[in-house]
Amino acid sequence: MQLANRLNDIAESITLAVTAKANALKKAGVDVVSFGAGEPDFDTPGFIKDAAIKALLAGKTKYEPTPGTVEARKAIAEKLKKENGLDVAAEQVIVSVGGKHSLYVAFMAVINPGDEVIIPAPYWVSYPEMVKLAGGVPVIVKGDPTNNFRITPQQVARAITPKTRMVIINSPSNPGGHTYSPDELAALAKVIAPHKDVWVCSDEIYEKLLYGGQKTASWAALDWATWKDRTITCNCLSKTFAMTGWRIGYTAGPKSLVDAMNKLQSQMTSNITSFCMPAIVEAYTNPQSNIEIEKMRKEFEVRGEHMWKRLNAIPGVSCVRPTGAFYCFPSIGQHLGKPLGSKKTICADATAFSAAVLEEAHVALVPGGDFGFSDHVRLSFATSMANIDKGLDRMEKFLKGA
Ligand code: PMP
Ligand code: GLU
Repeated sequence: MQLANRLNDIAESITLAVTAKANALKKAGVDVVSFGAGEPDFDTPGFIKDAAIKALLAGKTKYEPTPGTVEARKAIAEKLKKENGLDVAAEQVIVSVGGKHSLYVAFMAVINPGDEVIIPAPYWVSYPEMVKLAGGVPVIVKGDPTNNFRITPQQVARAITPKTRMVIINSPSNPGGHTYSPDELAALAKVIAPHKDVWVCSDEIYEKLLYGGQKTASWAALDWATWKDRTITCNCLSKTFAMTGWRIGYTAGPKSLVDAMNKLQSQMTSNITSFCMPAIVEAYTNPQSNIEIEKMRKEFEVRGEHMWKRLNAIPGVSCVRPTGAFYCFPSIGQHLGKPLGSKKTICADATAFSAAVLEEAHVALVPGGDFGFSDHVRLSFATSMANIDKGLDRMEKFLKGA
């Protein structure tokens, strides 16, 4: 039977594919160390779970408004006002099925066929594919590892054309682990601002995971008057509250955007799971949240620093120091084209490299090709210190040809 052409040029999510492969091997009894999944290894805080359980037992099991309950949208709007400096009302917020769905619905709402979307590389795997699904054309602007992968205002200025519809900003960033300071964001904003038909999609899902005193900012708050009608602010509860499986994301922006997203979502998924809505309110109003987030952040900081130091100590591996999110994205370029491991495997790119490391050393890495860097690999440090050492010991041994 025939399938739709629209998927011909679309790749499956490599992050999810690697994670699924690692889990399948584990299930089959192989002792795999997985650096694949970009998800916290902590459990969701108990008080957030309790809010959902209470709602479920109280019968919150029916349809709710497509963009979310008034209470949930209000709690998000207040969070955005208080923590991010965005002066948005509850009607300017729409809750979707995870950050991924928020971004997808937003892209479908603003991108016309042929519109160009500027995506800084390394990028999260799903951005280019989602842009293509919306009929847009990804325009990749490559960040230099010597500038911590951050793209420069000059690069953005060169990439903007009359067809540019949107620029995606992700700070802190997956997979690079890099972060733009408020001043660096402002410098990018300065070159985008004069192009009045260009949206900025600010993916702020790692906003709380900052290390070494690094600061960043919410894009629209850089200059509210300029950006309030042109910024698509996306966030989710997945990473901040260790809630990846709950599938709760949200978007804030001008009411026209939220209304358009609402129209699409009303024909697509309707509301997110009803009894998850009170969990959003709980997450954003319970003062205990900040304590829980800080506990996780501190732990990630120690692990990230450790992983980064160990990676850089491996000959032929070089890694940008992570200042946010929970990823190291080292270059393994010096090992390509040379015999590796006890089987003397020759790897042409990061995909072959990751396959060889998984097969011989039982360590799951995500190859960098689908992030825009085919000589890099991504390692998530959202896993225990013991796992980090075990996995890196194996990888090191593999690279030393033992
Ligand atoms: N944006 C980035 C940069 C991500 O890394 C992810 C990973 N999950 C998402 C969006 C999507 O988040 P969610 O899991 O809530 O769909
Ligand atoms: N964002 C996470 C990652 O990059 C989860 C998987 C996905 O949705 O891509 O690993």
